[in-house]
Amino acid sequence: MLYHSTNNPNALVSLKEAILRSLPADNGLYMPQDIRPLPAEFWQNWRDYSFAEIGFHVASAFFGEDVPADELREIVHGTITFDAPLIQLGPGEFMLELFHGPTLAFKDFGARFMARLMAYLTRGDDRELTVLVATSGDTGGAVASAFHNVPGTRVIILFPKGKVSPLQEKQLTALGGNITALEIDGSFDDCQRLVKAAFLNQELSARLNLTSANSINLSRLVPQSFYYFHSSKELPEGVEPVFVIPSGNFGNLTAGLLATKLGLPVKKFIAATNRNDVVPAYLKSGNYQARPSVATISNAMDVGAPSNFVRMLALFDGDWQRMSEKIEGFSFDDDTTRAAIRTVQALHQYVIDPHGAIGWLAAKKWSAQNPGNATIVLETAHPSKFLDVMEAELGQGTVEIPERLACLADAPSHSIPMSHEEANFLAWINEQSPHR
Ligand SMILES: *Cc1c(COP(=O)(O)O)cnc(C)c1O
Repeated sequence: MLYHSTNNPNALVSLKEAILRSLPADNGLYMPQDIRPLPAEFWQNWRDYSFAEIGFHVASAFFGEDVPADELREIVHGTITFDAPLIQLGPGEFMLELFHGPTLAFKDFGARFMARLMAYLTRGDDRELTVLVATSGDTGGAVASAFHNVPGTRVIILFPKGKVSPLQEKQLTALGGNITALEIDGSFDDCQRLVKAAFLNQELSARLNLTSANSINLSRLVPQSFYYFHSSKELPEGVEPVFVIPSGNFGNLTAGLLATKLGLPVKKFIAATNRNDVVPAYLKSGNYQARPSVATISNAMDVGAPSNFVRMLALFDGDWQRMSEKIEGFSFDDDTTRAAIRTVQALHQYVIDPHGAIGWLAAKKWSAQNPGNATIVLETAHPSKFLDVMEAELGQGTVEIPERLACLADAPSHSIPMSHEEANFLAWINEQSPHR
């Protein structure tokens, strides 16, 4: 399969180039050339498939022409080593828990798949790969975990100073080795801008063999489609789910749209955001206006210029009307989110994280106007990653901390402080020479 830029349908590249270059030189994003519905044989059997087997069939639709079936099956089975259970809160009210991976957020799916696909694509190459990633909280940890100690790769993570939770920060800074964390005195948007600047510098990009691990990288999106299928099959046959997606850069929602291109029936997508509501505002008005991000208690969604918006637009051929029929947007402020954390605990004895709480609020609001549907809220992270916020609402000791997070609390951390000036960052990264 070939891949084209959202800015130019005629500039076609191979899978290897689309994944390793990450970003087309024209500043668009790569899209698969043609996405076809999965074959009849899949639909006859999909309800009996395991999570990993569904993943293999979905991945084959994108990568099957370029990666041999046995290799692809190994990549998918290596990625999906934990479940994504669907939890029922009430009639037609579900939470899809995506936080059972090593770093306790859905980002593990994308990062683990990407690391394995990249290893396959670069097998036999003798050049070190430099993976560059900006994080608003969870991406960095997932990417660090997925690439830690992978030979021939080095990871550079940019995170906004003071804007990620203490345990999230530990996930970025505790591993060391081939993982370098840069603490940027600025916002997530600054981090994202710096990463983009490095990519658009062709000499630098080529010399360091730069690749991106942000959701601009297509290999992160495809595995995020898997769980849309996996959760849909838990519902009674014939019920079309309404997926509610707490969103920041809109990678998860774009992955849901890709699933529908493969033929998955979805009644509606709900884009749920915090006060960074650029996309809900667009869905209402047809005007897209990126803005500087504001800090909230759902920090992984503090994005003012969502990178995957151009992909969403491309999937609707730029047609606002069609997009706003399929996707509805809601946004909520921090006070409402805090209240929802308490309400969900009181009503359902369920501990919901601040991102999932925004999804739950959106599901409630939509269902009030559209009763009788099945809503599936993507619970994107484990509540213990946001301990301060959670304990302020529910009280100390109410949130269980999984061992793999708890053990980080006392680990030493290493990071390099840096300003948000492009020139500073480019000077630093220019001095990083590729290792053999
Ligand atoms: C990354 C993240 C999001 C936002 O996902 P996008 O794909 O960027 O829209 C939401 N919640 C959590 C916990 C995250 O880590």
